[in-house]
Amino acid sequence: AKHKGKSAWERFAPEMKEVSHERLQMESRLRRAQELDEFELWFQPIVETATGHVTGAEALLRWNSPVMGLIMPDRFIPLAEETGMIIPIGRWVLEQACMAARRWQEATGRELQIAVNVSPRQFRDPEFVESTLEILTACDLPPNRLEMEITERLILDNSIETATILRQLDEAGIRLSVDDFGTGFSALSYLKSYPFDSLKIDKAFVADVMVSGDNASLVLAIINMAHSLKLTVVAEGVEEPAQQDFLRKHHCDFAQGYLYSRPAPEPDFLAWLRDH
Ligand code: C2E
Ligand code: CA
Ligand code: CA
Ligand code: CA
Repeated sequence: AKHKGKSAWERFAPEMKEVSHERLQMESRLRRAQELDEFELWFQPIVETATGHVTGAEALLRWNSPVMGLIMPDRFIPLAEETGMIIPIGRWVLEQACMAARRWQEATGRELQIAVNVSPRQFRDPEFVESTLEILTACDLPPNRLEMEITERLILDNSIETATILRQLDEAGIRLSVDDFGTGFSALSYLKSYPFDSLKIDKAFVADVMVSGDNASLVLAIINMAHSLKLTVVAEGVEEPAQQDFLRKHHCDFAQGYLYSRPAPEPDFLAWLRDH
């Protein structure tokens, strides 16, 4: 074959070198992105399934790099997480999200919920709870308007710290939501022992709900289980009216997805909000 005579190392090394160079470059650009003001928060509405009313929005981070263009979070959040940069970035996200919710209230009189993604590293930062409470106070936003979306992955570590932080956030009145529910292959017992208010069914399940009987059963089971534990349910990735009908029929409380609106910069989100 073509690679005969070359060791695996020789064959892969140039590629690896390139990858790590790219990574280093990305890392140094990411380090400067915050001071250069290259981050932007986009917003996607969350609607009540039964009525179609907008009840809030999820804040989704974008990186507007002059060199690389618009970069989606899947491409830099893992790096930010690994390097610890997620701590200052996450704090910025929380600040911006709470300030946005406050602005919307001034502008429209509506008290929308704001949902923010919190990554494990950020969550374990010893100053996390305190700095969150400071942000809420500074923005004069009631804690129950903020919802933190936490992945199953984080909850699964089962540590005492995780339990303590969740309890402190809950006692402060912040709403807690399990994100990407169903992807973690977890024991479900944590739902009972931790103070969650809602869970978000991952879009992978919602996507196939109309074509796969198995996924439909799964989504139904999740909705019923959540309700029996007094949790509200959000379905993400709703793209088709048929999915919405299914969710409505089966009493899924909230929905989010391209069917309603794609994530959008704040001015576009506000324009959308005026008509909904
Ligand atoms: P997520 O929390 O599961 O967010 C939902 C993702 O689904 C978003 O991707 C959203 O744009 C996308 N989405 C919404 N509706 C639809 C739909 O109808 N169809 C499809 N196919 N996709 C839909 P996005 O914005 O690229 O974010 C990806 C992930 O990055 C998020 O997944 C979240 O885990 C992470 N992320 C985003 N912003 C932040 C942040 O501020 N902090 C942290 N730690 N993570 C973030
Ligand atoms: Ca989320
Ligand atoms: Ca709670
Ligand atoms: Ca998801």
